[in-house]
Amino acid sequence: MKSIRTRIAPSPTGDLHLGTARTALYSWAFARHHGGEFVLRIEDTDVARSTEESTAQILDAMRWLGLDCDEGPIHQMSRLERYREVAEQLIAAGRAYRCWCTPEELDAMRETQRARGEKTHYDGRWRPAPGKLLPAPPAGVQPVVRFANPQHGSVAWNDLVKGPISIANEEIDDLVILRGDGVPTYNFAVVVDDWDMRISHVWRGDEHINNTPWQINIFRAVAGADAELPQYGHCPIILGEDGLKLSKRRGAVSVTAYRELGYLPEAMLNYLARLGWSHGDEELFTREQMVRWFDGAHLAKSPAQWDPAKLAWVNAQWLKRADDARLARLVREQLVARGVEVADEATLARAAALFKDRCTTVVELADWSAMLYVPVAPRAEDLAAHVSEAVKPALRDLRERLAEVVWNKDAIGSALKAVLAAHQLKMPQLAPALRVLVCARPQTPSIDAVLALFARDVVLQRLAQV
Ligand code: GLU
Repeated sequence: MKSIRTRIAPSPTGDLHLGTARTALYSWAFARHHGGEFVLRIEDTDVARSTEESTAQILDAMRWLGLDCDEGPIHQMSRLERYREVAEQLIAAGRAYRCWCTPEELDAMRETQRARGEKTHYDGRWRPAPGKLLPAPPAGVQPVVRFANPQHGSVAWNDLVKGPISIANEEIDDLVILRGDGVPTYNFAVVVDDWDMRISHVWRGDEHINNTPWQINIFRAVAGADAELPQYGHCPIILGEDGLKLSKRRGAVSVTAYRELGYLPEAMLNYLARLGWSHGDEELFTREQMVRWFDGAHLAKSPAQWDPAKLAWVNAQWLKRADDARLARLVREQLVARGVEVADEATLARAAALFKDRCTTVVELADWSAMLYVPVAPRAEDLAAHVSEAVKPALRDLRERLAEVVWNKDAIGSALKAVLAAHQLKMPQLAPALRVLVCARPQTPSIDAVLALFARDVVLQRLAQV
């Protein structure tokens, strides 16, 4: 069997889109599952729209997701010579030809076709044929190279996701494969690359399904009629919550945006994987399980719908399982970005252990942790509801005792018990008042553990308000 080689081929015209990330994940997991190789290719031939920043963003997002590649990044713009060479070979073999039509001529051609009620198409005026007399090439026009698509028969493949697909060649135009400036078009560069890079399986979004017949025909012309083609699998698009195509205008669509919103890479991978693929009823799985299970089967044929609530749930599950020291690092990054200086990650790790069960994202965890370092502003209604005249003497007493105790959870707990006994109060009367004053939240995990996270001075200062 041909060795398994997959690729992801993003265009650097924006951030790594969630759909591309999902395809990357499937391609990566499929290669890893089979002990094959995964190639990263940057399709930067759209010179006007490609940027270095996007390339950097895409590589960064791939690294963050942990989708490591065995080859690449390979930039198409560094392979121009190769595309030109293959185009010349196709011309020499009669499988491609130069076309000197100007944009104005092409417009006029389409106009006439429309007026006749025909579907617009290239009319083949520069396509050589036995006995056909071609016009003399006009001066001053840079010709493009067109692929001479077979005019009869059909092109068919057994799509790994959608099943058998077949298109009549009559439906397929003679595509421009090399522009006048010598830069290849997408469908040509992809074929030369997939062939040169010995790609065995192409997983991609189904917006490319219409390109596949061209690619198969070009592939056969480039590699020979008997060449083993890659197998193609087209995954349905991801729909937004509103049932429309996931779009920037209606929410975050880039992987990087989710990192900034406080999602963990393992949660993103888990959620993206499930969006269009299943392994029984499993909802939570690791990268290793994905590699073990992903053999290209059980991919959904119909579009999946983006579900922020489910993503949040998946993230919360992974947050609970995440190592506290790692969360401390991530929370610290968030806090530093907010201008909060954090000297000590050990405290953040203890805070993570205490708060992570209540949080959905790292951002929320940072919201909780911030109270350790920045002043809090209790809401007037919380103060009115919980810091009553009845508990104020107990709070003052507690403050005095807390000034003296060894600063740890047990000693703080004992001081609390002593105050409750002395003032004949119950914990549910005192704890909410403490929470509101110190944390500006009426609910927290066990108050002695929470207080122990703070610097003593901070607690004393916040209690001094009563
Ligand atoms: N550059 C294409 C894209 O970003 C890749 C399509 C393919 O995988 O062939 O959509």
